[in-house]
Amino acid sequence: MIQERIKNSLRDVHDFPKPGIVFKDITPILKDQKLCSEIVDEFVERLKHLEFDAIAGIESRGFLFGLMLANKLNKPFIPIRKAGKLPYKTIQQSYDLEYGSATIEIHADAFQEGQKILIHDDLLATGGTVEATSLLIQKMKGQIAGFSFLISLNFLNGEQKLNKFSKNNISLAS
Ligand code: 5GP
Repeated sequence: MIQERIKNSLRDVHDFPKPGIVFKDITPILKDQKLCSEIVDEFVERLKHLEFDAIAGIESRGFLFGLMLANKLNKPFIPIRKAGKLPYKTIQQSYDLEYGSATIEIHADAFQEGQKILIHDDLLATGGTVEATSLLIQKMKGQIAGFSFLISLNFLNGEQKLNKFSKNNISLAS
C-alpha cells in the first residue's frame, strides 16, 4: 500500500523547527524516484474525476509534487508564496500563527475569475496555511475545487477548517 510506503519513508525530526515539535521530513521520499512516480500516479488516479482548471501549490514543499501533478494532468501550476517573493503584482492574505502572523501571496493574473482551483501542499497540520490559501483564491473570485496532500496529521483536525471551502480532500497518508 502506498500509504504505508509513504509513512515508512518519512523521517521524524525532533525539535525542528522549535523544541517540542516533531517535524515530518519528506526528503527521503524525494530520493526514491520509484516512490515519487507512484505517488504522482496515485494522485492522478484519485484526481482524475475531479473538475478543476489549475493547481495552486504552497511554498515550498507544495511545489514539489504540485508541479509534477499539474504537468501530468495537463493543467497550469500556480505558486503561492510567502510575502515578498513573487516578482509581479500580487494579492495578499494574512493569517495567524501560534505566535504572530504570516502573509502569503499570489500573482494577480494567476487565473481567471470563476476558475476552479485545486490547492496542493505536502502536509496538512492545523490547516491554517491552506485556509489562508483558500481565502486568497476566493478574494480573486476563484472557486476551490478541492485539496490534495501527501500527508494529513489527523490529530490536529486541520480538515475541519477546509470543509467550508470544499469537501474534496485527498490525502495519500495520515
Ligand atoms: P498548517 O498551516 O496546516 O498548520 O501547516 C502546514 C504547513 O506547514 C504546510 O505548508 C507544511 O509544508 C508545513 N508543515 C508543518 N508541519 C510540517 C511537518 O511536520 N512536515 C512538513 N513536511 N511540513 C510541515
